[in-house]
Amino acid sequence: MSTETDRDESEQGLDLELARLREHAVEITPNAAAPSRPLIIDPETCTGCNICVELCPIDILAPNPDPKGIPLVVFPDECWYCGCCEMPCPYYDEGAIRINFPLMQRVRWKRKETGEDFRLGMKNPPPPNRRKPA
Ligand code: SF4
Ligand code: SF4
Repeated sequence: MSTETDRDESEQGLDLELARLREHAVEITPNAAAPSRPLIIDPETCTGCNICVELCPIDILAPNPDPKGIPLVVFPDECWYCGCCEMPCPYYDEGAIRINFPLMQRVRWKRKETGEDFRLGMKNPPPPNRRKPA
């Protein structure tokens, strides 16, 4: 049977425990929301022609208010990674625009006959491709 003294001691114990937890309190905050970065546009080689802006089927891009500026990626999280902006870029070969595939989409595959290992975005990909050898 508990007595008044037992309860006092128990409450004191709880207070001590709470004080100890507060002393060592760790603040936990969620990760800051970070937009994805589906496109890497090189300001050195992009001319700001806005062909990519025109061809994106879902209007991820917008023209830069600065006529010589690179296009603005205004809705990065909604990109389909379809490549309609990248392939027709007249300065693709100079590296003006690259799709920055998420890790989960960096697919690898093998050629059965030779066992060669390929992945998206690799240097010197197997034919058919229209890139110059790196
Ligand atoms: S990335 Fe290519 S298509 Fe897009 S604005 Fe620059 S040069 Fe033109
Ligand atoms: S990859 Fe496709 S959806 Fe994404 S910006 Fe380029 S054209 Fe638009």
